[in-house]
Amino acid sequence: MPNRTDGPDAEISLPVVVDNYRALGAFAPQTECGAVVKADAYGHGALQVSKALYAAGCRTFFVAYPHEGMEVRKAVGDDAVIHVFNGITETDCPLFEAARLSAVCNREEEIHLWLSSGLQTGYVLHFDTGMNRLGLNSDQVSDIAALTKQHPPTLVMSHLACADQPQNEMNAKQLDRFRKIAQHFPSARKSLCSTGGIYIGPEYHFDLLRPGIGLYGGGPARPPGLKLTPALTLTAPILSVFDVGEDETIGYGASFTVKRPMTLATVALGYADGYLRSASNFGFGMRNGVPCPIMGRVSMDLITVDVSDLEERPSPGDRIEFIGPKAGLEIQAEAAGSIGYELTSRLGGRICKSWRTEE
Ligand SMILES: *Cc1c(COP(=O)(O)O)cnc(C)c1O
Repeated sequence: MPNRTDGPDAEISLPVVVDNYRALGAFAPQTECGAVVKADAYGHGALQVSKALYAAGCRTFFVAYPHEGMEVRKAVGDDAVIHVFNGITETDCPLFEAARLSAVCNREEEIHLWLSSGLQTGYVLHFDTGMNRLGLNSDQVSDIAALTKQHPPTLVMSHLACADQPQNEMNAKQLDRFRKIAQHFPSARKSLCSTGGIYIGPEYHFDLLRPGIGLYGGGPARPPGLKLTPALTLTAPILSVFDVGEDETIGYGASFTVKRPMTLATVALGYADGYLRSASNFGFGMRNGVPCPIMGRVSMDLITVDVSDLEERPSPGDRIEFIGPKAGLEIQAEAAGSIGYELTSRLGGRICKSWRTEE
């Protein structure tokens, strides 16, 4: 982005992603650890993240779309497997062939398509065990096993609905259903866990883990001893610093009324950059370890924060952190009524992203 006026920056640390990948792998040492890099690696850059993880030994990647798989293929060697969660259509077949992608079949029609396509890379069966979102119907497992007997899948998978709540009884129910399905496909590898599932217990691990958010340092509460670090730091520059007195209001809709004289700073970051508008009056920035609460509404290009508590009055050009070591991803997301997944995957085109390759 040449000649850009100072604007929001996201710095992504690839060594941190690799450390998180290794920590998750070490937590389940008997099981291969894959990497979910859909949605541009949750906003962290699929090309850069895949390249770093491939160099660290990761050989199985998951994306949602074949065009995402093409991007990942550019970053990884021929020996890496790239699975496409959202399945396959007739028009996509050339992409699957060109990038040697593996389709996750979620409907019987997709299995027929794969079997008749002549594609050589192997395919996956995804059974729905209780999420009721996407996947083959568990009741049809015998028919599907018969259908795939000549050309069995390489992987059989399912997805947990409540992986972020280890105590939820849905988990055991889905595990039980998945075990019964797995018996029908003795030659295939099995996969059940996203990040949260890894923490529930080893009986959930099977042959292959599918963490996404954990690689980026977010997601549900972690078991003691497992340390993951946020990989992305989002900062925005201050454009203006000013004082307001009692009874003044701030921003669109005058949604905040000043109760005591305050020093405010307006920064270059807004919902057009993917920052959540629901953070209005709830989110916060951080500067020098001090929280700077968001005052009034998040607008398209601007956010106003309270900098009254800073020891030193900041100046235009100084930066405020909105996601990072001080402004924790999940805390920040929760303040906006959302989750870390949404916050990073939405970070948009005006944010200047850069990648750190060394610690
Ligand atoms: C996105 C996704 C994952 C990764 O989930 P995280 O919670 O980010 O670890 C795993 N499996 C499937 C099917 C997914 O759609």
